[in-house]
Amino acid sequence: MKMLGYGAKELGIGLDAGAVDLFDRYYRELTKWNRRMNLTSIEGEEEVAIKHFLDSLTCLLAVDLPEGCNVVDVGSGAGFPGVALKVARPGIKLTLVEASRKKAEFLRDIVEVLGLGDVEVLWDRAERVGRTAGHRESYDVATARAVAEMAVLAELCLPLVKVGGVLVAQKGPSASEEVAGALAAVEAMGGRVERLIPVSLPFGYGGRTLAVIRKESQTPEKYPRRPGIPDKRPIRARVS
Ligand code: SAM
Repeated sequence: MKMLGYGAKELGIGLDAGAVDLFDRYYRELTKWNRRMNLTSIEGEEEVAIKHFLDSLTCLLAVDLPEGCNVVDVGSGAGFPGVALKVARPGIKLTLVEASRKKAEFLRDIVEVLGLGDVEVLWDRAERVGRTAGHRESYDVATARAVAEMAVLAELCLPLVKVGGVLVAQKGPSASEEVAGALAAVEAMGGRVERLIPVSLPFGYGGRTLAVIRKESQTPEKYPRRPGIPDKRPIRARVS
């Protein structure tokens, strides 16, 4: 995991030696599970270190995650960015929402193997979790990577965020058009696009964009809609 340490330094992200050891353990467990089920197509130590671990940690360029901060990662998959953020900032309280049972099983396993405290794994759809007391409007920060296009993501994630909190959506290098097409959905959820942060992964691994959406007012009761509906009928601005 040498590349991880160097890469984090290049990005200006602090990572202690204990965290680097945990990432090494994470890599080995991920590889073991990946032989049995298709968790990720990214393989090999360098690729996993940069495209999964470091890429996840770039969220720290958008938000500070202080001790006790309540974070929800929606569509966590094999734990990105949520579990990686927890390894780097162990003081956070983390909830992982994942619709696939197998992936949720992996998440439970990796949390145990890495000995991470204050992590809850929910095998469920974000649309349902967003309507559940104790989760709705309860998080300081929501994160999501590669889950859905921005208009859909806004409906899956923003209902979970407290007023004043933030959604950090990890997007590709040219996200501005996608985000512009999601303004109506973001506003309908009580959000406002605060900024788009361009990020370059170290060692020439390419560009990304962090879309930072601030929650400014409560999400109306009718959102999120039923599971599957946000994806089927994303909220768009009406053209008159
Ligand atoms: N975030 C991870 C990453 O970047 O490696 C996983 C990305 S994977 C392409 C998308 C994941 O989101 C899948 O594991 C899928 O099961 C999950 N997902 C999609 N829609 C969801 C929803 N409505 N609620 C919860 N999980 C969802």
